[in-house]
Amino acid sequence: MSVSVNAYIGLGANLGDAAASVRAAIHLLGELPNTTIGGCSSLYRSAPIDATGDDFVNAAVQLETTLDAHTLLRELQRIEHDFGRARPFRNAPRTLDLDLLVFGDTVIQDKVLEVPHPRMGNRAFVLLPLYELNPQLAIPGLGQIEPLLAHVRDQSIEKLP
Ligand code: ADP
Ligand code: MG
Repeated sequence: MSVSVNAYIGLGANLGDAAASVRAAIHLLGELPNTTIGGCSSLYRSAPIDATGDDFVNAAVQLETTLDAHTLLRELQRIEHDFGRARPFRNAPRTLDLDLLVFGDTVIQDKVLEVPHPRMGNRAFVLLPLYELNPQLAIPGLGQIEPLLAHVRDQSIEKLP
């Protein structure tokens, strides 16, 4: 038996019915093989950063999984693809973006996968949903979330009702 890992996924969408895409994607994450959902944040609305188009809908999900990190990434990309994600240009609006934020204590830096996600420490739309899910979470290399939140206070984000 492989060991179960606590993984955190960041979800974002800013094309079409973004909230519906995020909710449907959360449901699909729960159907991944050898994986269960341990927790789900609220949905948030955030202004685009390093991206174009409408406001984003964001959320984070905690998974318990025995998949390895690269297999999980491929599953995330398959789900993105099923939602019709196109990449016409860098940082283009997206129907669905699924990022592997944290994979237990594991640090990976290779051509296809960087974990923890390299830009997560300065993005409110990642940190706030994660903090809601697990305020004690220690991100490898970055530490606890709370001190990081002070640096992203100026970013526009609100919890959706
Ligand atoms: P971004 O999410 O940064 O806006 P994309 O979703 O288009 O950009 O991802 C581009 C590439 O990022 C993917 O081909 C994937 O291999 C790579 N990548 C590296 N680390 C990660 C990660 N932790 N989660 C998701 N994708 C990652
Ligand atoms: Mg991505």
